[in-house]
Amino acid sequence: MTATATTGPTCTQHGPMSPRTARTPEQRFTGTWWACIAPRCLNAYLQPSAQLLTQLRHQDA
Ligand SMILES: [Zn+2]
Repeated sequence: MTATATTGPTCTQHGPMSPRTARTPEQRFTGTWWACIAPRCLNAYLQPSAQLLTQLRHQDA
């Protein structure tokens, strides 16, 4: 067992989601996208990156 287990979001119907690989710099900037592994399930979750959170904070101010 390793201590580096990633704790990602879970689909309420199907269980743990798997992280999507970022294909563009924009996606990498936005954060990590997680998607349900079930073929017909469209549930997805965005885990915002620190960069994105910083930008949002600036916009808010
Ligand atoms: Zn699902």
